[in-house]
Parts: sequence; structure tokens; C-alpha cells
Amino acid sequence: MSFLEKIMIKYKTPQEIEIMREAAQIVSRTLGLVAKHMKPGVTPKFLDKLAEDYIRSQNAIPGFLGLYGCPSTLLISVNEQVVHGLPTDRPFQDGDIVSVDCGSVYKGYYGDHAYTFEVGDVKPEVKKLLEVTKECLYLGIAQATIANRIEDIGWAIQQHAEKHGYGVVRDLVGHGLGKELHEEPQVPNYGRRGRGKKIQNGLTIAIEPMINMGTEKVKTLDDQWTIVTADGMPSAHFEHDIAVVDGEPVILSTFDFIYESLGK
Ligand code: MG
Ligand code: MG
Repeated sequence: MSFLEKIMIKYKTPQEIEIMREAAQIVSRTLGLVAKHMKPGVTPKFLDKLAEDYIRSQNAIPGFLGLYGCPSTLLISVNEQVVHGLPTDRPFQDGDIVSVDCGSVYKGYYGDHAYTFEVGDVKPEVKKLLEVTKECLYLGIAQATIANRIEDIGWAIQQHAEKHGYGVVRDLVGHGLGKELHEEPQVPNYGRRGRGKKIQNGLTIAIEPMINMGTEKVKTLDDQWTIVTADGMPSAHFEHDIAVVDGEPVILSTFDFIYESLGK
């Protein structure tokens, strides 16, 4: 692959977008299944097996497993873990928050999205972090129109998070999505109004705010995977897959299966 090909955005046809919707929906249903089991005493490894079996039952394959050496189907990040937590045998405890990130490949295209769950009774200030991070996600999505540029997405996310005194993670970003999990362009969760590449029809991206209650700074644990906040305070992460169609953002993934499982 030439350098120019690597930096080129791969705009998708309506047919490709329909396949990507199916890939995203497989992940959505997987997270719906995960939601049913998100209780104190359940282990990340149990959820990981559940997710792998479900994805394979849908004529898809786990999107993360084996990619960059990833050993699991899900990335499960608890409390101060931001993203990329590897599933362990440590049971969830009452009051935990748990980000579950999941990928699938269906007919050669990736789905990739994430939700941060509450386990049992979560402190009000932590609930607020989850609420605001989810709002950030939808505010970012709303900017993904052909009237705007890529940094408008991060600008909206950053404004909202910082208004609440939260830290916006800089070291990890959203991304283009398609036949590869990570395509161009990068989609940072911070930015300046009116900067970056112009948004065009056929753009397919994963928007994924990672918002910390305290400092924006993060570090990587010795397992070389798990990203944690530098100050040990909680972090939240929500992600959707988006296509730009007829000038407007279309959300290919859904949290509806999660809400159904949680009785929301
Ligand atoms: Mg993800
Ligand atoms: Mg992603």
C-alpha cells in the first residue's frame, strides 16, 4: 500500500454502508446480551466468551480478537481504566462502572462500538460522568454533516465535557471504519471549530469520546494494553458507528438492545 493510499479516506457506497450497518447491529445485539449479565459477581472473562459465541452465531467474526495481538473479543475497562482493558477473572463489584468495547467483522466490514455500564449502585457523581459522556457522543455525532469539518466533532465533545470540569483524553481518538478497524481520518475528541478535513457523503467513522472525571492524562499498564487515568479517577467511554448520507449523520449502531435488557 502506498503512502498516499494510507492517508486517503475511503468513502463508502450505499451498498457498503448497508453491510456496515449489519456489522454494527451485530455488535449492538452483542452489547444487549452483555447488558443482561452486567451484575456484581459476573466476570469479564464470562462476558467475553458469551460475546464471542454470539458473534460467531451471526455469521460474523470477532473484530478485535487477534488484531494487533488482541487476545479477546471484548475490551472491558473498569472504573479508572479508560479503554483496552483485557478480560480477567476478577468479578465485577457493586458500584463499578464498566466500559465494554466490541468489534465484529461481517462480510469483510467492521462494526466497532462501546457502552459504559453501571454495576449495581453507582455514586451520583459517577453517574453524572456517564450521562455527560453519552451526551458528548451525541453532540459530536450531530456535527457530522457535510456543512462541517472533522474537528467540529471534537470541538463539540470537548466543549461539553470541559463545561463539566472533566478531562478529554487526547492520546486515543475515534477513527474511520470500513474494511479496516482503523481507517483515515482520525477523529479526536477535542478540536477547533472549522478545522480538519471537510466532511463528505460516504464518510464512515467511529465517534468515541473517552472522558475522565479528573485529569485528561492517561498511562498504559504493564500488560501493554490497559489504559488507565493518571490520577486513578473514573473514566467513561461511549462509541457509535456513523455514516454520512445525504449530508447528514446516520447512526449505524444502536443502544436500543442495551436499553431493552436494562428495562430502560
Ligand atoms: Mg471501539
Ligand atoms: Mg473505535
